[in-house]
Amino acid sequence: MTADRRAASGASRVDRVRRTPAVLADGREIIYFDHPDAPSRLTHDPRDLTPVGTSSQVRHDPVLDEWVVLATHRQYRTHLPPTHECPLCPSRDGRQTEIPSSDYHVVVFENRYPSLSTHAVDAGDADLPAIVDHAPGVGRCEVVCFTSDHDAAFGSLRPDRVRLVVDAWADRTSELSAAPGIQQVFCFENRGEAIGVTLSHPHGQIYAFPFVTPRTRQMLRSARRHVDLTGRNLFSDVLAGERSTRTRLVGDSEHWTAFVPAAARWPIEVHLYPHRQVPDIPALTDDERDDFVSVYLDVLGRVDALYDKPLPYISAWHQGPAHDDRDLAYLHLELFSVQRAPDKLKYLAGTESAMGAFVNDSLPEDVAARLRGVTP
Ligand SMILES: [Zn+2]
Repeated sequence: MTADRRAASGASRVDRVRRTPAVLADGREIIYFDHPDAPSRLTHDPRDLTPVGTSSQVRHDPVLDEWVVLATHRQYRTHLPPTHECPLCPSRDGRQTEIPSSDYHVVVFENRYPSLSTHAVDAGDADLPAIVDHAPGVGRCEVVCFTSDHDAAFGSLRPDRVRLVVDAWADRTSELSAAPGIQQVFCFENRGEAIGVTLSHPHGQIYAFPFVTPRTRQMLRSARRHVDLTGRNLFSDVLAGERSTRTRLVGDSEHWTAFVPAAARWPIEVHLYPHRQVPDIPALTDDERDDFVSVYLDVLGRVDALYDKPLPYISAWHQGPAHDDRDLAYLHLELFSVQRAPDKLKYLAGTESAMGAFVNDSLPEDVAARLRGVTP
């Protein structure tokens, strides 16, 4: 980790976050992020767990110039267990879960069924033609539990707890970005069965990729072209454009703006940009983190009020690559949903799945007006 990144990741924040690292029974790492006044956490995991072997690999599609992860061992993971068997609840009343302690504020641990792993080994000769590059699926997949309350939602958390989640994201981004072979860190939340969530406990995930993801590479290509043509940052210009018209704004504050993008692909889509260009979450100041919390909670309240029921969504942090093009990158969060009506889901059509050409039934200006109009 570089000195400036370590400083930005919050040496000054030690007083507000207590970090307790430990090791689970099968050797996976777990880290508790608590407010300093919380009880100390029980770190011993008494379970008898055998390590899950990971045979993941990455293969390069030479036609699209994109890497694909192959992780066949994931078929055996837990799927929507009943609440009393939830592996993300704290260990209580004699039942041992993934989290040995009897309570926690925020906790992060390595996924037992990861798509990418620091221990991934090359699957060997699969008779691939020379034109298909391949490598072991080296990386890391972590689970972030936002709260010990099984029935809560991210949007119902207290602001100081959401701030703790932001600090945990920053910590993981800094540490994983500095790990060998890691090119990009992706923090996200999938919410709702419609999105394919396999555990209902409020949680998100963090992927540390051994490559820069296709979406980010595409964004950076556009940003490079824009700076060559205009001398300005592409994302700053997008933000300035939305702030000048305000037609698609959902909310804003001193440091952040939430808006529906002009060319939204999904029935519900909101992007949150900080007003200052930073490459990733660790680079946000304390004020910017606090301000994000209030704007994001407001947006989450609005999307849930839209249909008067919890909206299934994917909320995705777009962070710059760990090493390259960080001057072009612009941290932002993109939240979107497949819920196109109270009882209707959008499924990707042929034009979208096959051609990547999206057709949206909703006008972004109307969606923004509806989101502004509801009471969160
Ligand atoms: Zn739970």
